[in-house]
Amino acid sequence: MNIAVFPGSFDPLTKGHEEIVKMALPLFDKIVIAIGDNPDKRCFFPIEKRLHWIRQTFQSEKIEVAKYQGLTVDFCRNVGAKFIIRGLRNSLDFQYEHDIAEANRHLVPEVETLFFMSTPQFAHLSSSLVRELYHHHADYSDYVSFVLE
Ligand code: ADP
Repeated sequence: MNIAVFPGSFDPLTKGHEEIVKMALPLFDKIVIAIGDNPDKRCFFPIEKRLHWIRQTFQSEKIEVAKYQGLTVDFCRNVGAKFIIRGLRNSLDFQYEHDIAEANRHLVPEVETLFFMSTPQFAHLSSSLVRELYHHHADYSDYVSFVLE
């Protein structure tokens, strides 16, 4: 099986993330969208809600949703994934993602990171923007496919 992991915080999942999943889906037998449950990283929405929103967004049988602790590359090994999916919005993302991908390659050379570029429609979109809109009771429905509650 050709399996990829799409790791992230998804705090919350946005239409930008969704777009990346849809771009990647034809290439794999299975994509595991996986939330890194890292005690050092404080997230706004509880992890069970973030998992639920991802599950309700994707109906495809090729998509699994999971949480993991520890290194992403170890999680990849556990689920038999040879690929990590990440999204790129701009050159800032590139620099950040480049360094993570290099570190992961150093740790586990057989797991390759693949990047998918967002379309201009979502290139300015981030989970933090959505959190900001939510916090101020503004309309976030252009950016998220579900109701944050
Ligand atoms: P992390 O905390 O691991 O960066 P995120 O949930 O913020 O988790 O992002 C997961 C991945 O999705 C990252 O590769 C990020 O660059 C990408 N991403 C986030 N928002 C977008 C977007 N609007 N378009 C494309 N990729 C995105």
